[in-house]
Amino acid sequence: MSSLLRRNRFLIPRRIVQVSLLVVFVGANLSGWKVLQGNYSAAHVFESFYLADPYAVLQMLVAGFILNIDVIVGAVIILLIYGLLLGRGFCSWVCPMNIVSDLAHYVRRKTQMNRLDEKMPIKRDTRYWILVLSLVVSVFSGVAAFEFVSPVSMLHRGIVFGFGFGLAAVFMVFLFDVFVVRNGWCGYICPLGAFYSFIGKFSFIKVNHAKEDCTMCGNCFAVCPERQVLSIIDKQSGSIPNSECTNCGRCVEVCDDDALHFGKYTKLK
Ligand code: SF4
Ligand code: SF4
Repeated sequence: MSSLLRRNRFLIPRRIVQVSLLVVFVGANLSGWKVLQGNYSAAHVFESFYLADPYAVLQMLVAGFILNIDVIVGAVIILLIYGLLLGRGFCSWVCPMNIVSDLAHYVRRKTQMNRLDEKMPIKRDTRYWILVLSLVVSVFSGVAAFEFVSPVSMLHRGIVFGFGFGLAAVFMVFLFDVFVVRNGWCGYICPLGAFYSFIGKFSFIKVNHAKEDCTMCGNCFAVCPERQVLSIIDKQSGSIPNSECTNCGRCVEVCDDDALHFGKYTKLK
């Protein structure tokens, strides 16, 4: 494997998955493809069963919607896949906003904006408060509150139906990530990412660290969108315990000492 391919061995399949999903959604809308019909909140798969975003379904349920049992089962399937297996993998492998956020992170690094990284104007747990707020607003408004303002939905609608206001919203997120807060939307604000962090606490697949191989070069800190999860680096061996890790694999790709690997959950020691 050439070094470029090895350096991007997770990034390439992540982009393939993200772009393929967008293509099949567009294909469903423009050409009637039956692979995935719907959107990131709920999709009909091969016209035989549903997959649904459990956070969107939760908002609809607390808002008072009566949902088809097939959609609820679809949400439970997704809940089990991420909760038991993939952790917050939705953010780095599926969500199309990850492409925008990674691009902003790249621009920020290349333009030396990352020298401001130590002075973040907001706290990481803001997203959990927004998650709670979105559910409370859903209860009182009778609508799934976050779905109305979600850049994820706007990006999807923009690509499928043609960009309008959606493009402006996504561009604002990009500017926010470049000029205001590193990984600002996904790392501090998005309640959907917070939801997947919450349910992914006990997932099976984790990034594991081998302390004895670590030379503390700092490569992983430079690329990680959620650097706070790397607090065990050079201190303990075992799985990264913080479920805010998106399982993107960037740290594994850039670790020249092979101190980081994907693997099953392992206790810290
Ligand atoms: S944090 Fe939100 S917008 Fe970012 S990748 Fe995750 S779900 Fe998508
Ligand atoms: S620890 Fe590694 S896999 Fe987890 S978010 Fe950071 S770079 Fe991605």
